[in-house]
This record gives sequence, C-alpha cells and structure tokens, in this order.
Amino acid sequence: MEQKPLRPCPFCGSRNLRQDLMFFDDEGEHEGVECLDCDASNRAENWNTRADELPHYPDFVLEALAPIASAFDAEYQRRQHAKRVIA
Ligand SMILES: [Zn+2]
Repeated sequence: MEQKPLRPCPFCGSRNLRQDLMFFDDEGEHEGVECLDCDASNRAENWNTRADELPHYPDFVLEALAPIASAFDAEYQRRQHAKRVIA
C-alpha cells in the first residue's frame, strides 16, 4: 500500500497516525487514516485536504473539542461497522 506523507490530525494535532487500515463508506472500500491519540479517522485521500480547510484553533479549544470529536467518530465508526455487517 502506498504511503503518503500525512499532515497532523486535524482534531488533536497528533502525528501518531495509522495508515494501514481500510475505510468503508457509501462509495466502497478505501485506504484509511486513523489518529491513534483521539481515534479520528477518514479516507486517506481526504485526510490532508480536510486538515487544510480547518482554521488553526488554540490548543485549549482543540483539547476541549477532542472528546466531542472522539464521541462523534465512535458513533460514525459504529454506523460504518453496522453497514458492513448488513452488507
Ligand atoms: Zn487526533
């Protein structure tokens, strides 16, 4: 699998990223990226693009939002998993 240089996590700023997973959505199966610190994940092709689009929040804002982002992502992953089980 091709390894691309990744920008830090757009949610928590971490560079502790995993790129060897598969990400499923309505369009099928894709290379995925996951942040090992806050569990955010996205399609690999969208990871860097999304980071570019985010404003640069101060650390205290990112720290306050991290649990919310994590909970949101956990729910998203649960739904993605449910889709896989059904399919
Ligand atoms: Zn993160």
